[in-house]
Amino acid sequence: MRFDVISLFPDLFRILAGQGVVGRALERGSAELHLWNPRDYTRDPHRTVDDRPYGGGPGMVMKMEPLQAAIEDAKRAAPDSEVAYVTPQGRTLVQDTLAEIAAKPGWILIAGRYEGIDERLVERYVDAEWSIGDYVVSGGELPAMVIMDAVMRLLPGTLGHKDSARQDSYVDGLLDFPHYTRPETVAGARVPQVLLSGDHQAIARWRLQQALGRTWLRRPELLERRGLSAEEKVLLNAFIQAHRDAE
Ligand code: SAM
Repeated sequence: MRFDVISLFPDLFRILAGQGVVGRALERGSAELHLWNPRDYTRDPHRTVDDRPYGGGPGMVMKMEPLQAAIEDAKRAAPDSEVAYVTPQGRTLVQDTLAEIAAKPGWILIAGRYEGIDERLVERYVDAEWSIGDYVVSGGELPAMVIMDAVMRLLPGTLGHKDSARQDSYVDGLLDFPHYTRPETVAGARVPQVLLSGDHQAIARWRLQQALGRTWLRRPELLERRGLSAEEKVLLNAFIQAHRDAE
């Protein structure tokens, strides 16, 4: 899978690309990252990439010409890719959207700055607009990194263990269960006994019950959307009863 990012701050991507999950995906060749800086496409001595908004008001707007030239070059280099603008006005990403993104051969991501990009670019080039949530950050670089990380960890062979992503929160419509590691007792706090039992069925049941219980406590609307099997209902009811007894 190929990502081309159009950004005024390409250096911000170098740390992400050099380590962790994204670094591994790039090193293994399951993903590619190419960076395009609109400033390299300016022709004036000041290398101007922004200008004042028509109609007045505060802030600056990213100019059409340098961005357009960068997008055109990226499209020539990645003819099969679609173009997405990361913007707080876009469709809010959820886990299911990542599979749609990963299903395409590649994406050219436009990272905005200032008040955003000239709307005529959106009209002419943009196939999708994505938001990472209902809040505003200063530039599209972090949103682009969030999207690339979230997608690349789903690509086969990127994570250390093939099941790691499958048990993550949201993948099956539930939040993840709690995790523990050595030592068995630390500062007087013990690991739940069932996890030390070696009984894989009991462990799987306990984990499912915890995932159901946590989702019920923190994100009940997810349970309504997902629906529950008969076994899951029994497990959740027992969790709810224990929770109420402990209150
Ligand atoms: N004036 C814009 C608005 O209110 O819609 C916000 C501009 S923001 C300061 C600058 C850039 O950051 C945007 O062009 C966009 O690329 C990026 N950005 C900010 N918040 C974002 C979010 N929640 N999701 C995706 N991109 C975001």
